[in-house]
Amino acid sequence: MQIPYSQSMAYSFTDTPINKIYDVVIVGAGPVGLATAIGLRKRGIDNILVIDQTRAFRQVGQIVDLLPNGLKALKYIDHNAYEAVKTASLTFVNSQPSDDEKNTEAIEPKPPKASPEWVSKNLQGQIVRSVSLSFDVWFKKYGEGRVSISWYDLQTTLRRLLPEDQVKPNHRCVNVVDEQEFGCVRLDCVSDASVEANPYAYWADGQKNSDTQFQNLESTSQSEITTSFRAKLVVAADGINSTVRRILCSNSSKQTFANPEYSGFAAIYCRDLPDIPNELRSHLEEKFFAGSPIVTVTNYELSSASAFSECPRMLLINRQSIGYLVHVPVPLHSVLGKSGSDLLDLALQELEKAGFPDALKELVRLSPPENMLQRPYYIHRAAISENMSLAWSTPRVVLVGDAAHGMPPFMAQGANQGFEDAMVVTTLINHIAKENHWDNKHAIASAFEKYESLRRPFMEYIQEATLKQFPQSSNQAWLEYNQKVYTRNFDQIIEQLCV
Ligand SMILES: Cc1cc2nc3c(=O)[nH]c(=O)nc-3n(C[C@H](O)[C@H](O)[C@H](O)COP(=O)(O)OP(=O)(O)OC[C@H]3O[C@@H](n4cnc5c(N)ncnc54)[C@H](O)[C@@H]3O)c2cc1C
Repeated sequence: MQIPYSQSMAYSFTDTPINKIYDVVIVGAGPVGLATAIGLRKRGIDNILVIDQTRAFRQVGQIVDLLPNGLKALKYIDHNAYEAVKTASLTFVNSQPSDDEKNTEAIEPKPPKASPEWVSKNLQGQIVRSVSLSFDVWFKKYGEGRVSISWYDLQTTLRRLLPEDQVKPNHRCVNVVDEQEFGCVRLDCVSDASVEANPYAYWADGQKNSDTQFQNLESTSQSEITTSFRAKLVVAADGINSTVRRILCSNSSKQTFANPEYSGFAAIYCRDLPDIPNELRSHLEEKFFAGSPIVTVTNYELSSASAFSECPRMLLINRQSIGYLVHVPVPLHSVLGKSGSDLLDLALQELEKAGFPDALKELVRLSPPENMLQRPYYIHRAAISENMSLAWSTPRVVLVGDAAHGMPPFMAQGANQGFEDAMVVTTLINHIAKENHWDNKHAIASAFEKYESLRRPFMEYIQEATLKQFPQSSNQAWLEYNQKVYTRNFDQIIEQLCV
């Protein structure tokens, strides 16, 4: 396939001479890009660079749960990275960082606290399922544990395992050019561009309204353009709103895959409810929290699978203060650009329709409208029609993580699946390096095809579980899903890649 890279050279880039060609440039210093870089260095490939659009690394993002499959993949990528993440994460099992901690780069390991549980309850407050948050409990069951860590701490921990000069912030990739004559790809970057809203980004916070949402994401002016990098291979780990993906898909039959699609679900949430009357607080404690820091409430009595997947789910969070998040199946226009009061009304309406108890609706009514946030969830669907050719790579560029298959976080699999991608891609690039196949287009293409044919079917399964919530429908389905996702033999997967 001819690479449909950006043809128009609208910008006159400060072109660098062809005296430096990296083996691999990774676009995006999120968890998946950094894990890929660590994995490559571990395997002796150190002529690499990671670039990120952020002007400076700073405290952004939500808490991410790393589950046995993601941790197994990370351990395979690099044992040190696995240990470092485990150490940095234990503090997040049941404690949030203070504002002072948030503003500092230091991540001091702290001893784990007693293990609480994440409890799922029906509308009557009865326990349907409870999941331990303890690393050890998961380890015993699945041969690997589970940790929670903030996106920023995950990024910082992984970033510190790489030499500082190999991770360059303030370089937003805006152009990808196939330079066949030099056997490489050129990435053009801008720096110090004005800060841009990114409606899809999962490392950004939710939106209060849409006024700043759909700005021109690629707008750039000549003066901002700074650097070009060249690489034999490019790993695009630039998240769900991937620029590289958009460029690869533009002007081709894959145009429809360029941008993420609205998944049909959004979150409406309020992190902090300052004034909860004592009576309501006691009721919530007794009936719903009962000592758990996090409880999911939904209507488990719905008989059909489609009604169940369309039913709102409410996450009640009891950490330093009480907050909640409601996942609702609503059209995009009903959340975008809406005021705090509109969001409140929408959440209440959805909870009312699904028969949620008065106490939970009362809690929502107490939310200060100015504290209300919304986050639509987007997806790059892994399922494609049969006659569609493979789409996660072009000859020298491969998409990983959210750039390939971003999805809503309902099964907590985004970063975990991204680590699986990183494990597979580093193994395959290692093979290319060992055979010195950097200029063998056929070998590179077949490596990336292997990656996609291994990973895409599994991603289809994970995305279906995420959108339809079928693992939640019965204990049997839950057990089957857990077995299928967490207990795979990663040695076998790697062996398969090396034949
Ligand atoms: C509320 C919420 C909860 C979640 N919970 C979980 C969970 O429990 N478990 C889990 O596994 N996943 C979870 N996820 C999903 C998880 O956060 C993502 O799947 C994961 O961060 C994807 O990693 P990534 O490295 O592929 O992309 P990202 O984390 O999005 O990182 C992309 C990086 O690329 C950079 N970038 C973007 N564009 C460019 C460009 N043009 N040039 C250079 N750099 C660029 C960005 O600055 C960023 O640093 C959750 C997501 C949300 C929103």
